[in-house]
Amino acid sequence: MSSCLFCDIVAGDVPAEIVHSTDLTVAFRDVNPAAPVHVLVVPRRHIESAAAIEAADAEVAAALFTTARAVAEAEGLGSTERGYRLVMNVGADSLNSVPHLHVHLLGGRPMGWSPA
Ligand code: AMP
Repeated sequence: MSSCLFCDIVAGDVPAEIVHSTDLTVAFRDVNPAAPVHVLVVPRRHIESAAAIEAADAEVAAALFTTARAVAEAEGLGSTERGYRLVMNVGADSLNSVPHLHVHLLGGRPMGWSPA
């Protein structure tokens, strides 16, 4: 998937501010942040979206959430008094723009019930 932006970030071919990485995931700051903390957590392996996750992807799916938690704690959002929002967009109506599975971790300010 040489044409995939997030695959290129994972490979180190496109620069990004990486804040956390594991064997299965990479987390980097969103280039156009919608909140004081806006980090994207992606699987190293290309999966198109949450709608493409199969049962065999259970380990990597869990790793997205454990990585998100580690980032949230590192960013000072881990307490119940602070907290954060996790968002996964699928398809055009959600405005999904990069077809490589990613979790948006948004935090650092109170949020209403809107996507961000
Ligand atoms: P989505 O709309 O859910 O597909 O989210 C894609 C996100 O990727 C958007 O929030 C963009 O701001 C972000 N983005 C696009 N290009 C880059 C990049 N080169 N580095 C970091 N984030 C990016």
